[in-house]
Amino acid sequence: MSPLDGDAALRARAARVVPGGMWGHLDTRRLPAGYPQFFTRAEGGHIWDANGQRYVDLMCSWGPIVLGHHNPVVDAAVARQTALGDCLNGPAPVMVELCEALVERVAHADWAMLQKNGGDATTACVTIARAATGRNTVLIAQGSYHGALPWCTPVPAGTTAEDRANQGRFVYNNLASLQAAADAAGGDLAAVIITGFRHDNVLDQEMPSLAFAQGARALCDRSGAALIIDDVRAGFRLHRGCSWERLGVQPDLSAWSKAIANGHPLAAVLGRDSLRNAAAKIFITGSFWCGAVPMAAAVATLGEMDRIGLPEYLEGLGTYLRQGMANLAQHHGVGLRQSGPVAMPLWLFDDDAGFEKGGAFCRAALEHGAYLHPKHNMFLNAAHTRADMDAVLAAAEAGFAALG
Ligand SMILES: *Cc1c(COP(=O)(O)O)cnc(C)c1O
Repeated sequence: MSPLDGDAALRARAARVVPGGMWGHLDTRRLPAGYPQFFTRAEGGHIWDANGQRYVDLMCSWGPIVLGHHNPVVDAAVARQTALGDCLNGPAPVMVELCEALVERVAHADWAMLQKNGGDATTACVTIARAATGRNTVLIAQGSYHGALPWCTPVPAGTTAEDRANQGRFVYNNLASLQAAADAAGGDLAAVIITGFRHDNVLDQEMPSLAFAQGARALCDRSGAALIIDDVRAGFRLHRGCSWERLGVQPDLSAWSKAIANGHPLAAVLGRDSLRNAAAKIFITGSFWCGAVPMAAAVATLGEMDRIGLPEYLEGLGTYLRQGMANLAQHHGVGLRQSGPVAMPLWLFDDDAGFEKGGAFCRAALEHGAYLHPKHNMFLNAAHTRADMDAVLAAAEAGFAALG
């Protein structure tokens, strides 16, 4: 390592040529002091920072890494497609193969369209719903994240109020608030967009209640609005199809990205026949949306998910970690709240409004080789092992000790 390649040196160089040193959610100033900004390598369930430190990786690139970094089957598919071509004058045959696989897999899906980022997919869902209904209003849960575009960014600097016109708000899992927002929209309701489960930053996570999911479906049926599930974060980690299939509730449209290509840039919109014409009518595209390599990566990723039984594997591993964490918290007499699905854990401490405890805990765990997050849900991947979970628990032991 040259002295110019260590984390501190890279930060100093970046500070001169990148506003703020880093943009968006990847800006390490959002994390406790001591977190590295730069990473040089990753393998399976581990990452290495620019100083050469190795960590068990419980962020998984904020969701995309689902099989593990450098999965050999995905890497082989990527190499094959790279040798043939990636960015061409139109799509490669693998586009049809992938869309067929997605339509086969997700119960509500009759068709698929592919993009790059999750925000492309959520925006496309809203656009399709408006084109289909000829109406404007979209209902969004307070605090839900649907991307960083002007209509949905959580940080409104540089956007206008008009970017967020034609929107109503409701509270996740609160059917009365959804009904009230729909009533306010009257005959102008185009769509309701809801995340696969409630995973808002800095709040305890919540699974959707059956009554809420069924009520949202019935409300959309009554009003002729589209029900959109934003499964960008949860998609395929918890269930082979759409996250709401476990509740027996089918959306009209769903948005996907993060895990579908194990780290390669890809997003998808899946929809019902009733929205096919609207989806064909709108104009959405991008220079790189035909990239064949991420599509080949996605086909391989979906195949590997099925071969290993991904949701069951992550459930077993996550349950082991959750029980281990509960035991440690009890042993140390610390009030720890573990919420959400075990494959996407969030750990918040009681009496910690300023996140001082969470920060001290994560910082100590980082020094002991576990890359955790104090406020955002974390992610397990299929390359993680029981031994990795034991390593996380050992690092967590140091984290609890630091609270003492
Ligand atoms: C990450 C995320 C998005 C946005 O995806 P990008 O790829 O960052 O544009 C949208 N919705 C949810 C639920 C997400 O977690």
